[in-house]
Amino acid sequence: MAVVSPKKDIKDLAFDELKAELLAFGEPGFRAGQIFSWLYRKGKATFGEFSDISMGLKEKLETNYFIGRMDVAERRRSADGTEKFLFRLPDGPLIETVLIPSGKRRTVCLSTQAGCKFACVFCASGLDGFKRNLSPSEITGQVLFLRDTLDRELTNLVFMGMGEPLDNFDNLEKAVRIMNAREGMEVAARRMTISTCGLVPGIERLAELDLQMNLSLSLHAVTDRLRDKLMPVNRKYPLEKVVEACEAYLKSGGRMMTLEYILIKDVNDSRNDVEGLAGIARRLRAKVNIMAYNPVAGLDYAAPDEPALRAFIQWLKERKVHVTRRQSMGTEISAACGQLAGRAKSAGRHS
Ligand code: SF4
Repeated sequence: MAVVSPKKDIKDLAFDELKAELLAFGEPGFRAGQIFSWLYRKGKATFGEFSDISMGLKEKLETNYFIGRMDVAERRRSADGTEKFLFRLPDGPLIETVLIPSGKRRTVCLSTQAGCKFACVFCASGLDGFKRNLSPSEITGQVLFLRDTLDRELTNLVFMGMGEPLDNFDNLEKAVRIMNAREGMEVAARRMTISTCGLVPGIERLAELDLQMNLSLSLHAVTDRLRDKLMPVNRKYPLEKVVEACEAYLKSGGRMMTLEYILIKDVNDSRNDVEGLAGIARRLRAKVNIMAYNPVAGLDYAAPDEPALRAFIQWLKERKVHVTRRQSMGTEISAACGQLAGRAKSAGRHS
């Protein structure tokens, strides 16, 4: 029988929660700032290294908490510089994190769940079902691992890896607040992008937060008929409701939207699709990211050929849409979400 540790992961505590627990130990509140700094700025893995903390408090910390850390199971590097990390969680599931360098940018694509419930037909993440939500520590841990392993500044964080971020809202919010906190990693909210398949209640909750993060909608189809087929979540939250929630998100202030659109041969690449996509992009004042479908073993979809891809982008430009072609980076290391974990016989993602 598995032994359940009475200790909790100190990195699952938001700053205010840690402060409250320290006050309950009879410690002054400012200790929370010192501990956050050791955990998130200096990335220390043991309480013994917290040199400005008294022995008495270190003992209390040791008794009550442990410091969660990520266990890397596999690491692959592609010729284009993309690196993919496969982490094994303590209870077995595998999750993926991808580091994408581009010019001065170093973007990290983070997972928020092990596997995914939403079963979009083109996505490797949904193939092996849903395992569980990631804890705040497991979300921030991916960033800390990469920052401290590579010893380089990470410029942008996108929650676009395995799982649907807004389906794990509470842990996502806590992780984002820890990363954004002055006492934590101090990552500006505008450098973070939350990606969603279109969970309307989650988009509405996001709009209520005092954090100006960017929102990315995995659109992939511009009619309910096709979107119902490609992304079953659309049957619960149809396109118009999703677009209305995104409009409200934008109105709530200072935020940017992007639309992700994976172009699939003979599925969503017609002129009618261009018209629909341009209309939604105009309504949301959104940039559109087009990416050719990245074939997934076992799935019956194909990438468009190069002329078709170029024509689709050109048609969008003619309709004054701000469009960027996203390269399918790291194809040879299985950088489409969920592919590496899938191959390692476990779990998934967005785009
Ligand atoms: S695209 Fe996103 S929501 Fe859909 S199955 Fe993949 S991870 Fe889940």
